[in-house]
Amino acid sequence: MANKLLDCASLHLPGFEPGHVWLVGAGPGDPGLLSVLALHALAHADVVIYDALVDPRILRLGRPGAVLDHAGKRGGRPSSSQPDISARLIQAALEGNRVLRLKGGDPCVFGRGGEEALALAAAGVPFRIVPGITAGIGGLAYAGIPVTHRDTNSAVTFLTGHNSEGEVPGGLDWAAIARGAPVLVLYMASRHLRRVAGRLMLAGRRSDEPIAVISKATTPAQRVFVSTLGEVAAACPEVEAPAIVVVGEVVRLRAALDWVGSLAARQRDPTAG
Ligand code: SAH
Repeated sequence: MANKLLDCASLHLPGFEPGHVWLVGAGPGDPGLLSVLALHALAHADVVIYDALVDPRILRLGRPGAVLDHAGKRGGRPSSSQPDISARLIQAALEGNRVLRLKGGDPCVFGRGGEEALALAAAGVPFRIVPGITAGIGGLAYAGIPVTHRDTNSAVTFLTGHNSEGEVPGGLDWAAIARGAPVLVLYMASRHLRRVAGRLMLAGRRSDEPIAVISKATTPAQRVFVSTLGEVAAACPEVEAPAIVVVGEVVRLRAALDWVGSLAARQRDPTAG
């Protein structure tokens, strides 16, 4: 079925040319959330340079014989610096490989896809960017939390709770963030819940405002913890990375929309409501 779909000329999928790099988003985990272009890239790539966040089930979809290279390590040695990864992409392309750079979520949402694309452009290596479903959208959907909802929010802010040193970014204008949108989606923030919640409340967000922490979203190990800004720091259990944090009234909709939980309950007891 999948092959028929991918061979279908009417889709006009681009050829994956030797010497080209495709920067591809693999989505948040569930292989079903891969795009057709991502699957097409996996089917044709000679070299796959992937991040830790890419689900192992997705890597298994690669072409037999393709070289799988974890971006965080080389030859067992840790070497995850960004210039090193960009240099590996360029070298593999110059050697004439079809190079698939596979990243979790969307390559350009807190994924340094822009930096890698800039390095490729500077080196004259042809590339393509294939967007993926970012954790801040797909992860919320799998938690039964619509990222926007009529009457609740007409704006949403995506931000990172973490700078390159692993700290809450000092340069963020928390007052502006708190005022800017009723719904905030925070990447890389689950280890800083106390500080993030504290800053948001200091900047005027209510202590009874709901917050959800979604760990390993869209995978079989997904866990969702719901609390309030005032209580989350004390109440939240240790969550497994990766985790996405969402603040805002949309979180309340999960009580009615937790379809993952409902389907699991139905599977355990098909007679249940
Ligand atoms: N490019 C990625 C984000 C990379 S930053 C994307 O678009 O999704 C890494 C952060 O993404 C993690 O710290 C976490 O906040 C979030 N994240 C990625 N995958 C996730 C998942 N399956 N579940 C929950 N959060 C996830």
